[in-house]
Amino acid sequence: MSFPLAPGARIGILGGGQLGRMLAMAAARLGFDATILTPERDAPASRVAARTILADYDEPAALDELATTCDVVTFEFENVPAAAVGRLTARGVAVAPGERALEISQDRIEEKSFANAVGIPTVAFSAVERLGDIEAALATLGTPVLLKTRRGGYDGKGQVWVRRPSEAKTAFSELGERPAIAEAPADFRRELAIIGARGRDGEIALYPLTESHHENGILRRTTTPARDAAKAWPEAERIAVSLLTSLDYVGVMGIELFERDDGRLLLNEFAPRVHNTGHWTLDGCEVDQFEQHIRAICGWPLGPARAVRGVEMINLLGDEIHAWPRYAAEPETRLWFYGKAEARPGRKMGHVNRMMRAQT
Ligand code: AMP
Repeated sequence: MSFPLAPGARIGILGGGQLGRMLAMAAARLGFDATILTPERDAPASRVAARTILADYDEPAALDELATTCDVVTFEFENVPAAAVGRLTARGVAVAPGERALEISQDRIEEKSFANAVGIPTVAFSAVERLGDIEAALATLGTPVLLKTRRGGYDGKGQVWVRRPSEAKTAFSELGERPAIAEAPADFRRELAIIGARGRDGEIALYPLTESHHENGILRRTTTPARDAAKAWPEAERIAVSLLTSLDYVGVMGIELFERDDGRLLLNEFAPRVHNTGHWTLDGCEVDQFEQHIRAICGWPLGPARAVRGVEMINLLGDEIHAWPRYAAEPETRLWFYGKAEARPGRKMGHVNRMMRAQT
């Protein structure tokens, strides 16, 4: 495949959620056709894409069809089987970001070990295979520890605090006795996020730092620019650049950070895809994260990542979507709804971007 891809080329997207939906919309605006591979009928992304292949991610015939009909393939969530990406890559398909970034991000131990190896600090952690490992972790890391499944957790699911050895057994069974990670508390004063992009030629664009606010492990809102961003910027930039370059990354990456009282930054995790903490860019930037991702994977020059205004992004979870008339009546608010039929509790149904002060 030769890059840059011209408008008219076909982009395959593994995953059919809201991130795939906003990617497909950005792709369409640049003249590309998106094909969604998803096991979900009427998925949010399918409703705006040119084509959908309805199949499980590891179905060989579906992957082969994607391979023969698309010029480049990407993914919109990190729990697609790495083997699926491997199969596409083996068939000569350009998959961006690649299998390596996907594999590392799927396993919390791999992810933190990789970060530490390239000079990026994280909380102290240890691997948990069996109950005794939790007791050992409490002894070495101190109390409490946050126990998380190694793989497959998202939005605070698969996480439980262990405050004393007597809680270990219940916590482990709550996680289904699956392989886990025990993490020391991050003791953060706030959470920050940075969206980074790297093009096929190695060019890097970083968006301004965002402050993210979680409740029960789920992102509720972000505010951008982060307060006192200038102080945190050099280290955030170093972390982002080192992740993007050491993975030889192509595309947009979401990077979540903890800021400690002394101002030190720790990497929480990175997502090899567009990210909820970057939704503010849809209305805060000249080129948003979705267009940026499409540009990067298609071998286009990256667009400017600077903010043109401050934005408060609010996630609408479950029933909160029913408040849409109130948001629709606010002149400074932009609405992004995902077209999901069922407003289950905690489900991300849409988000709104409230415009704030102008940037200088
Ligand atoms: P994660 O799924 O790992 O991103 O975790 C979701 C949220 O849980 C984070 O955004 C934090 O608010 C919180 N959290 C995760 N890891 C830790 C930790 N080691 N210490 C304290 N809070 C944490």
